[in-house]
Amino acid sequence: MTDQRFAIDLMKHLVVPTFVLNAEGRVIIWNRACERLTGVRADEVVGTTRHRLAFYDKDRPTLADLIAQGRTDEIEALYAGYDVASNSEHGFHAENWCVMPRVRTRLYLHIDAGPIFTSDGRLLSVVETLRDMTLQKEAQEELERLASRDPLTGLANRRAFDIHLGSEWRRGRNSAHELSVLMLDVDRFKQYNDRYGHLQGDTCLRSVASVLAGAAARTGDLVSRYGGEEFVLVLPGTTNQGARVVAQRILGAVSALRIPHADSPHDQVLTVSIGVATGDPGVISQEALIARADSALYRAKHAGRNCVVCADRDEEPGETGAA
Ligand code: GH3
Ligand code: MG
Ligand code: MG
Repeated sequence: MTDQRFAIDLMKHLVVPTFVLNAEGRVIIWNRACERLTGVRADEVVGTTRHRLAFYDKDRPTLADLIAQGRTDEIEALYAGYDVASNSEHGFHAENWCVMPRVRTRLYLHIDAGPIFTSDGRLLSVVETLRDMTLQKEAQEELERLASRDPLTGLANRRAFDIHLGSEWRRGRNSAHELSVLMLDVDRFKQYNDRYGHLQGDTCLRSVASVLAGAAARTGDLVSRYGGEEFVLVLPGTTNQGARVVAQRILGAVSALRIPHADSPHDQVLTVSIGVATGDPGVISQEALIARADSALYRAKHAGRNCVVCADRDEEPGETGAA
């Protein structure tokens, strides 16, 4: 057996899914493991460029194609996971969700591909190996979801809120767009728990959370459970006027739930208080804006609860009042 024959046989039997393209981008090797992964047989693709259709339901280049055609600057745009720093002329590494049309399962593949050159520097072929990382990716996504969600309400938790607000601030600093924050707290909730029990209290927090999720549905809006019975909404690109309208709408929607609360002076139903603050990330820090919303909320509590107070104009008459 010649050395070349042996090398080809070795590659065919490797447990790692592997295929090799020649300099023209045609398949010259498609190993058994690659057949198992893709459901596409070697005799269907060897000598052709049809290998692309083993991974995607539309004709788009594989990592090996991009290397063979010298189009490596397009990798970043085409792959979900791509770390430019980890790549070199010896090899490129990327990750992507692939639809795998033949086996009809969506797989998250880790892809390594590298060129092989002749001694005089001509491209001879490109070798691509694949690793199925679907289970790891799904576990990672689930962990990220758990780490960023509040389990009781399903809203973003405090950690996700901090990350989101930080990135809105970086974006907003350059765009001179106002951003509004609504700080919301359930009124007399300790008494609610004492009278109706903690489990009923939990149900109540879920209902308030659904109202909030419905009120801030624009792209970029974030509703989160800030802690206990406090919630915060971040509305990027929303003026103070707009934020007050949203806050009043929330106030009305929570009262309209008509959750019985015998200790509430407001029609004996559960209510909330809201503090609103608006600022330009180029002018005010995120901590300062939150502090303003918080002190507006404090004033709303002192103004009798079930009302909205605006940090910027809270001295003006008519700013507070029941919905
Ligand atoms: P105020 O109108 O001034 O806000 O009065 P309050 O009673 O709502 O305020 P306080 O801070 O005294 O009480 C908050 C209560 O919220 C106390 C706490 O037991 C309750 N709470 C916090 N987190 C949860 C939760 O996850 N579930 C339930 N059921 N209750 C919670
Ligand atoms: Mg509170
Ligand atoms: Mg409260």
